[in-house]
Amino acid sequence: MQSKFPILILWLVSSLTSLCSAQEPAGVPNARFQQAADRTFKAFDRQHEQTWQRPFFFMQMADTQYGFFSGNKGFDQEVDLVRRAVEHINRLRPRFVIVCGDLTNATPEHPRYREQVAQYHRDFSEVDAEIPLVCVCGNHDVGNRPTAESIARYKENFGDDYFSFWVGGVCNIVLNSSVLKDPEGAPEVLAAQQTWLQQQLQEANAAEAKHILMFQHHPLFLAEEDEPDQYFNIPLQRRTPLLAQLKQADVRAVFAGHYHRNAYGTAGSMEMITTGPVGRPLGKDPSGFRIVTVHETGIEHRYWGMDDVPEKIELETSGNAR
Ligand SMILES: [Zn+2]
Repeated sequence: MQSKFPILILWLVSSLTSLCSAQEPAGVPNARFQQAADRTFKAFDRQHEQTWQRPFFFMQMADTQYGFFSGNKGFDQEVDLVRRAVEHINRLRPRFVIVCGDLTNATPEHPRYREQVAQYHRDFSEVDAEIPLVCVCGNHDVGNRPTAESIARYKENFGDDYFSFWVGGVCNIVLNSSVLKDPEGAPEVLAAQQTWLQQQLQEANAAEAKHILMFQHHPLFLAEEDEPDQYFNIPLQRRTPLLAQLKQADVRAVFAGHYHRNAYGTAGSMEMITTGPVGRPLGKDPSGFRIVTVHETGIEHRYWGMDDVPEKIELETSGNAR
């Protein structure tokens, strides 16, 4: 009897090891998910991308949130929706795709977190290797009150939580909005992000960016820049000074998710664009994503339900709907 235990343990260890390696490649995840590093996004060469070239479009998504439909029991519906989104990506061939947070429903300490992350990696690995995929952290990715540990866990799987990158003359800034929503667990991260942001805005202005675009999970506000605090916006205490800073730097637009519906507002000439979910909707807008066309003098954007996405994007004739 005694001699069987080590064999049983060996068998268990080897079974578990092969199970893990079937779900996630050994070592660090796919290099695609480690592009956000050193506070930039490595697929885009700044030297080359700082100059305006020609109009382009990108796709903005949010809230894939694997596990939300079933309360973390499974993720069949999210897998189906993401695979359809990936088909659209590979057919339309945007300059890049950005997913604005709540990549999974489980938070890092949850027992289902690892398998949801692995499925996200698997599904988005099907995006054509030439199309960069930018991931942004949401409250489910780093927790409602993020800590240094939860952020570190996110970074292992998806890279930096805040960073900037240039694409064709446009400066794109990604923020960790969960520390703006609730900085109590990681005040030092918010302070560092704030110093870094000011520097990025100054540099973008000095380099005469055609546009400055920002991306984060939480909307700064849904409809009115001074609307009261609620679950889906950033508290006025931090929203008001941040808006002043963004207006001062002439930021063109802030893109967000988190609301699982579309919403829209302006703060001066800056647009606050909240995009519905790839995953489970919480309102009348269907699962889908936004297509954003960038021209030298402005941007156009429109939300598309997964069933209504056009076959092709014509840059010259794209509409001005939002
Ligand atoms: Zn969220």
